[in-house]
Amino acid sequence: MGDEIRGSCLCGAVAYEIPASDIGVVTTCYCSLCRKNHGAERRLRASARTRGFRWVAGEPLLQRYRYAPEREKVFCRVCGTPLVNAYLDQPELLGLAIATLDQDPGKRNVLHLFAASRPEWIEIRDDLPQLDTVPDMLGRVVRIDPDHVLLETEPGQQHRIRVHAEAGDFSVGDRVRASLAHGERGFRVSVVAR
Ligand SMILES: [Zn+2]
Ligand SMILES: [Zn+2]
Repeated sequence: MGDEIRGSCLCGAVAYEIPASDIGVVTTCYCSLCRKNHGAERRLRASARTRGFRWVAGEPLLQRYRYAPEREKVFCRVCGTPLVNAYLDQPELLGLAIATLDQDPGKRNVLHLFAASRPEWIEIRDDLPQLDTVPDMLGRVVRIDPDHVLLETEPGQQHRIRVHAEAGDFSVGDRVRASLAHGERGFRVSVVAR
């Protein structure tokens, strides 16, 4: 509490609030889904914790569009502004369209994702790291569900990730590396230590 910041759409009918501390690392994505989603050359986004997020105006005006099996774009149906992406397989997190914030979240872009999938006429003019995929995740397997794995990347930090049909052979307790290739729907998992 106390560090709530506000965001809104183009027409101003929809507004939300979220504690700045619930906003994660800010990244820029150049993948084709993000570019179409935003009608922009890149999507500036952050994963945010759903628990502190709330709509404060215009919630009945929200429209949802499912653009991938577990992903929905949530936007204002009056003006079309994309506000958040809902992760149906990870309801505790959402993808925040950080450029819709009306206040400074106190965080800056740290890297460029899927940089190789941008068209050649889009330039990157800073020295931040450029990745052609999302970063690998290292962690310990906490639980194995159908199609999903719960990974503990740091003490108290757990991520539920969708895994590739040929994810590999691993068990609860293993330390693993999870990698996501562009265009793939699930992470591939390899054991680092048993
Ligand atoms: Zn609007
Ligand atoms: Zn993207």
